Order: sequence, then C-alpha cells, then structure tokens
Amino acid sequence: MEEEIEVLKKFWKGDRDLICPRCGSPLNLVAMYPKTKEGSLQVSYETFIECENCSFSIRVDTSKVYGAVKAFDDRTIDISSWSPSGAREIMTYENLLGKEKLEYLFETGKLVEFLIVNDKVVAVME
Ligand SMILES: [Zn+2]
Repeated sequence: MEEEIEVLKKFWKGDRDLICPRCGSPLNLVAMYPKTKEGSLQVSYETFIECENCSFSIRVDTSKVYGAVKAFDDRTIDISSWSPSGAREIMTYENLLGKEKLEYLFETGKLVEFLIVNDKVVAVME
C-alpha cells in the first residue's frame, strides 16, 4: 500500500508525470470516474492507474478532503470539512494515520488536506 500512497500523493498534487515505483517506467492514468458518497456531497474518484511496462497498477476510490480533525480514536477519524456547496460537513473515515500526527492536528485544529483511499484516511498532503 505504501507505494500506491506515494503515487496517489503525487497524483493529487497535480503531477501527471508519474513513475512506476517498481520498474521506473511511466504510469498511465487509464480511467477516472467521479462519484458521490451516499448521504454526502463529497466527490471521490474511481481511479485506475497502470504501468506501461510491468504489472504494477492502482485501482482505488480516492479523494482529497480539506478540513480539520474533529475527533478520532484508534479506528476512525472525523473530519470537519465543507461540501462543494459550502455547507459544513463532518465525515467519518477509517483511520490509518499515526497517533502523534493526529494528536497534533486535533490540538492545533489545523486545516490540512487529507488523502482518502477507499474510505480510509491514509496520509496528510504536505
Ligand atoms: Zn512498472
């Protein structure tokens, strides 16, 4: 999963010259379909990226959410964010972030961009 997360981070930063972490060949964006989560206005993207040369590929539901940590425990994280219409929205995701980072974000109330993959918070964009 670590390799995939690194590629997705670059992808969400707008980098389209993605390189395969296994063989160094270019990665191609094969497909990207927007979809909305049930009960939410947030849009995520069914994303399919594959290597030109080897079998490395990524097929995930991914999105970037701008917001703050509202609450968290070992398994879940609540992110306070805004829907595309500007309304406040709190979303719950599975938590894959480290405890130290979460405590820092929670205490400071800092607004950051979270990388979401298959409904799990996998990283903070920096
Ligand atoms: Zn490759």
